[in-house]
Amino acid sequence: MGLFVIQKHNAKNLHYDFRIEINNILKSWAIPKGPSTNPKTKRLAILTEDHSIEYADFEGVIDKGYGLGQVLLWDKGSFTNITENNGNKIPLDEAFENGLITINLKGEKLKGNYALIKTKKNWLLTKMNDDKASTKNILKERPESILSGKLIDEIE
Ligand code: MN
Repeated sequence: MGLFVIQKHNAKNLHYDFRIEINNILKSWAIPKGPSTNPKTKRLAILTEDHSIEYADFEGVIDKGYGLGQVLLWDKGSFTNITENNGNKIPLDEAFENGLITINLKGEKLKGNYALIKTKKNWLLTKMNDDKASTKNILKERPESILSGKLIDEIE
């Protein structure tokens, strides 16, 4: 089990930072269109710099540099690594190196199985087919912070 967090980040370009704990750090991807609960949707996920575990609770404003803008704690919870190959479980760091990570999320908003798949240039995040899959727009239905209940424009 590990920690995952998603921070909605109103930087120069709005995006969602998807972070999962691997070997005591938060591996991070920026997802311009945010996560989807629909297995037919694949979302571009751009690998970004590692963050420390402590950053998982951050909500507030970054007042300088590249990340300038509001950060809203959009989702958080635990996840289980379910990556396997021919029935053999693959450790998370190995799955990352292989470019195929499958995880079961237990967040407040996102639940069920998701896959991170590395393509030639970038990664894609997609919902896997299970009973938590849905065609609803979770980003629109649940825009609020799980920490404060605020919307992104209310973060200061
Ligand atoms: Mn960001």
